[in-house]
Amino acid sequence: SIPLSFFGGIGCASSNGILVKGSNYLEALSATKYIVFDKTGTLTKGVFEVTASYPENGFDKETLLGMAAYAESSSSHPISLSLKKAYGQELDLSRVSDIEEIAGHGVCARVDGKKVYVGNMRLMQRENLTVTTEHKEGTVCYVAVDGTYAGCIVISDVVKPTTKDAIAGLKKNGIKKTIMLTGDANETAQRVAAEIGIDEVHSELLPADKVAQVEHILNAKGEKENLAFVGDGINDAPVLSRADIGIAMGAMGSDAAIEAADVVLMDDDPAKIALAMKISVRTLKIVR
Ligand code: ADP
Ligand code: MG
Repeated sequence: SIPLSFFGGIGCASSNGILVKGSNYLEALSATKYIVFDKTGTLTKGVFEVTASYPENGFDKETLLGMAAYAESSSSHPISLSLKKAYGQELDLSRVSDIEEIAGHGVCARVDGKKVYVGNMRLMQRENLTVTTEHKEGTVCYVAVDGTYAGCIVISDVVKPTTKDAIAGLKKNGIKKTIMLTGDANETAQRVAAEIGIDEVHSELLPADKVAQVEHILNAKGEKENLAFVGDGINDAPVLSRADIGIAMGAMGSDAAIEAADVVLMDDDPAKIALAMKISVRTLKIVR
């Protein structure tokens, strides 16, 4: 039988907006030593703003952004939402067909019959498209139309106001190492990591690379040391399942992530991770 105080712990967590899906996760949480984070939407707000755009090869800014917004019409990725918001016009979906979302790369679609690619440098390289603009600021979205590079759109994300203190709080609560995994470019990843005090960073990862990184840490850590993964996206579901404890952002997170997680933070606040650990340690003390 489950000791009664476990219910007290789960109840206390719940009244703080932390949904713990079972008493075993409270126990697992109390022994967590490694915390691995996804970047976008987890440590950062995931709400990007377009800060600049650089059309090339005869395209103008309006057409560049329009092509991107149309190609992104069916995606719910934070980048996609920002591009559509920046375009600001109602999308006539009859102009778009053959939409394909390419995980960790971007999207591809036909817009007015033209083949449009929107995504990162890796996507451009994969499609043998020559990018002529060089940008290191923010997250850069490259656009190609019918095999011609059309320019890039620079968007920038900001870290959540509580992230830096949350990371410091985890270190004070006995966490040995904090690690950030991201599909974003290395420059952006390093800048965010330095700003928030993360110990280790791995960038430019595909969803499968994130699972591999987590498995690498799982294999190297001690037996009684648990690894928690914190994420929000559809791509994060496999890692959330693979970690000793999966923690999902509940407010802006994808249904797949919430489903795969063991613990859900209802308000997406990373500071709640240290609080969940404190509640788990206190509960375990009463139980033992
Ligand atoms: P993260 O690991 O930061 O959560 P993802 O794995 O979701 O990021 O995406 C990795 C990268 O792939 C993004 O930084 C972006 O360059 C590109 N990408 C993914 N989805 C899209 C999209 N819908 N539109 C444009 N670019 C995208
Ligand atoms: Mg993400």
